[in-house]
Amino acid sequence: MQPVSDRVIDSLRSALGPRGVLTARDDVAPYLVDWRGAHRGDARAILRPAGTEEVSTVVRLCHDAGVALVPQGGNTGLCGGAVPDSSGEQLVLSLGRMRRIRRCDPNDDSITVEAGVVLRDVQQAAADTGRLFPLSLGSEGSCTIGGVLATNAGGTGVLRYGMMRDLTLGLEVVLPDGRVWDGLRTLRKDNTGYDLKHLFIGAEGTLGIITAAALKLFPATPRRVTAWVAMPDVASAVAMLALLREHAGDHVSAWELMSRQALDLVLAHAAGTQEPFRREHAWYGLLELSAPRATADLDATLETALGHAFERGLVTDAVVAGSPAQRKSLWALREGISEAQNPEGPSLKHDVSLPIGDLPAFVERAGRVLEGVLPGVRRVTYGHVGDGNLHYNLSKPVGATDADFVARAGELSGAIYDAVSLMSGSISAEHGIGTAKREAARTYKDPVELDLMRAVKRALDPDDLMNPGKVLPPA
Ligand SMILES: Cc1cc2nc3c(=O)[nH]c(=O)nc-3n(C[C@H](O)[C@H](O)[C@H](O)COP(=O)(O)OP(=O)(O)OC[C@H]3O[C@@H](n4cnc5c(N)ncnc54)[C@H](O)[C@@H]3O)c2cc1C
Repeated sequence: MQPVSDRVIDSLRSALGPRGVLTARDDVAPYLVDWRGAHRGDARAILRPAGTEEVSTVVRLCHDAGVALVPQGGNTGLCGGAVPDSSGEQLVLSLGRMRRIRRCDPNDDSITVEAGVVLRDVQQAAADTGRLFPLSLGSEGSCTIGGVLATNAGGTGVLRYGMMRDLTLGLEVVLPDGRVWDGLRTLRKDNTGYDLKHLFIGAEGTLGIITAAALKLFPATPRRVTAWVAMPDVASAVAMLALLREHAGDHVSAWELMSRQALDLVLAHAAGTQEPFRREHAWYGLLELSAPRATADLDATLETALGHAFERGLVTDAVVAGSPAQRKSLWALREGISEAQNPEGPSLKHDVSLPIGDLPAFVERAGRVLEGVLPGVRRVTYGHVGDGNLHYNLSKPVGATDADFVARAGELSGAIYDAVSLMSGSISAEHGIGTAKREAARTYKDPVELDLMRAVKRALDPDDLMNPGKVLPPA
């Protein structure tokens, strides 16, 4: 990596024009810190190309000058991947001006969009043609297609439709030397060797710059039923998943879990939320069945499934949304959890996954171990049961100081990751590695896997100019 000279900035400015290169401190500042203010860096300039050719020119110029680039989309990532380091020697490459929907074809069930298109705009473009683009995240009003691809984002639709990787047909990528790989095909079948798009999905910008993507569309699902249920334990939530699938098959589109502790925080801090039942329960689930207009009587299916769940003692109370407003208020209880932790002081977030059947044992084991490390530590547990994905977050014990809690952060996270590792789980289910989990990756990822990842990185980016310092722990 070389320092960024005036000559390099001048050539970038002549390639991109004045709108394409920001250098004034006030213009640069918003790109140097992540959405939560947790990661901060420095950069001499922000590059804002308006099309693939311009991205290619930028990358070639930087490659020739030995300057490192940090790709950035909506900057909503949770692991610090889109923020430059503190050296000031890296440049941020923002895809924010590349917002064209190139093609939306309902007959092909595909949509081809540029990397800077915001996720919600893709959902809307699909809806405008009577189709569904099913990726759905809390950040969908700000995150971009390039970002959700680079982090292989998940969210609430994974149970039925899969992660971003499963929703992708083809990619256009600018490689670290500036060449453009045009893999922008919408084929459902193409067995002509290595499926290269999967290298770039989830790579967090360390192998190249994604400039456009061809994505899958699905039939719209305007028929929808939503219920909020109470459960005695996590084992019931796991058994409920199987029961729901027996009754509703592919119509099960969400099955979300929350602990009482998580609901307590939402009720305390999220305006307009209400206790869903007369008495408190240990665990809650939010379930949704959905279908295209013509198919299935979802109300009857839900009623039968809930009847069986009550009989088996999996569910001890339930409320079914009777209107769109009620549905929204049930989802608000689930979606409010992350923000409701903020007023409680610093929180330690863990986005882990486990084999689905092991979720009950993990919650029991991790809870026991954490109580030993820091008695009273609050476990704000929620997640996507069907994906084996828990957001296993911690807040300080009532009455503890922020400083005392933060001082134990390493020990607490270590205890959680040890439990995950013992049960063959993953320390990052959907948020990625970035810089935040790079050292944990060194400890918990298989060394052979890390070696293979380094070999891929060396093959594609031998000069380490694509988002250096992210994902891979130094050897
Ligand atoms: C409120 C909230 C809720 C969230 N909920 C979820 C959730 O439910 N599930 C989930 O999976 N995630 C969730 N996230 C995090 C999620 O990872 C990001 O929202 C999103 O995937 C990143 O998109 P972005 O455009 O903001 O990318 P950025 O944050 O800008 O970048 C993320 C990473 O991708 C790289 N990158 C960005 N664009 C490109 C490109 N064009 N080419 C190559 N690399 C690129 C960056 O270098 C960085 O490493 C949530 C975040 C927030 C703030």
